[in-house]
Amino acid sequence: MTTQFFPVPPQGRGTSDIEAMDSYLLRLAREHGVSEYQFHSILAFWWNETKASHEHPLGRHIAYIQKVGHGGDIDTLIKAIERGTAQSGLASLTLSAFGDISGVHVGSFIKRVRCWCPACLRDQQRDGGVPYEKLLWRLQAVTRCHVHQIVLEDSCPACGGHQPRHVDTWPQCSVCNADLTAAEKTWRLAATPGSGEADMIQIVEYCAQHPSVIFQADAARQFWRLVRAEGSFFAPRSKESFHNRPVVQKTLIETLLRMAEEMQLPLLSILLDPVQAAAIRPLVMELPPGVSPPGRPRRHLSRSDIDRLGIQLRKALTVGAEPVSLKKVCEEFQSTTTAARYWFPELAQTLIAKNHNRIERQADQRDRALQALSLNADLVRRAELFGWHCVARELSEEFGIAVRRVRLRLAELKATERRSELGHPPPSSRRHAEERGKP
Ligand SMILES: [Zn+2]
Ligand SMILES: [Zn+2]
Repeated sequence: MTTQFFPVPPQGRGTSDIEAMDSYLLRLAREHGVSEYQFHSILAFWWNETKASHEHPLGRHIAYIQKVGHGGDIDTLIKAIERGTAQSGLASLTLSAFGDISGVHVGSFIKRVRCWCPACLRDQQRDGGVPYEKLLWRLQAVTRCHVHQIVLEDSCPACGGHQPRHVDTWPQCSVCNADLTAAEKTWRLAATPGSGEADMIQIVEYCAQHPSVIFQADAARQFWRLVRAEGSFFAPRSKESFHNRPVVQKTLIETLLRMAEEMQLPLLSILLDPVQAAAIRPLVMELPPGVSPPGRPRRHLSRSDIDRLGIQLRKALTVGAEPVSLKKVCEEFQSTTTAARYWFPELAQTLIAKNHNRIERQADQRDRALQALSLNADLVRRAELFGWHCVARELSEEFGIAVRRVRLRLAELKATERRSELGHPPPSSRRHAEERGKP
């Protein structure tokens, strides 16, 4: 049977290593010798000409949306590619399984910047394999590779550039063409999983094995109703972490993950069988005796609290007092900062201004420390032992300044040193010399 497009199979089928839809489409476009945007145009044209009348048309704007999410456009895209390439189960390259339970908006759950595990990219290329981007790497909840236990990278080790989503030069940097899997000594270990990571690995793997699964829309709500006890510790908190409304509301994946974490159950078990999950939930939802539920800051204060708040604010403003923020002062009374500003507008304003000054002064000090940095023997020795990237990170912690700025400063210093080694004076002094030489 001939297909409209080359029958390129997705990578990592049936496992948690499954490829992300964006990566698959980029590879598909490359196989056809066109750019991603051109491929979408060709695909949309072909689909709109040949689709049945009841099927949705495919717009070219699909090239711009997050293709690992879910929604009507993604469903049509999957259908079009599956028909065009005679592949099946492509829904598992996206989060389509959440289509009913979660809102269309996945923006905050998907990373804007491409991330990768350099060790995985290296493994993928063994025995002539294809390097590709895993679906897991695209998820906010996943910040490390669970196989190699290292932090996912998001910038090129050579030039520090991010990798654009619509360009496929994997595994080379699309900016400077350096190998993204090199620089092994810069890989950072990460032994402990982040929150939500285990849940998402389990879900991605399940969906890879069951590509047609769609989690039932009211699974979370049903689970919640079964475990929820009136007057329990979780009842007031539930209003913040999970909306329990009379009609089924679409919820965010982050919210589902948080609920599973709070309930200490795998999210997959809640989504697949909420009744069973509610039955096996082992925890009693009561507070231990003598513990009061965490309160929220109040806006209405008693007269005595207001007086004491005034005293504390004045104390914080006396000369030589320990620097303290307005929020910190308010915390003591469980008061909101709005309440403090209402009762003592001038005191609160002065304290805020004082804190601003302090923060600016500290930033100035840090800037000066960075400018005063020089390439002394100790620094060079440390760099020889551990590499410049380690030195930069240490200095960044020492000064409390972003690593990027420390790296820039170091590069500046190194450039100056190189110039002086070559016998060229630094540019500023050369300019002065020229000016002096002018008649
Ligand atoms: Zn890895
Ligand atoms: Zn680069």
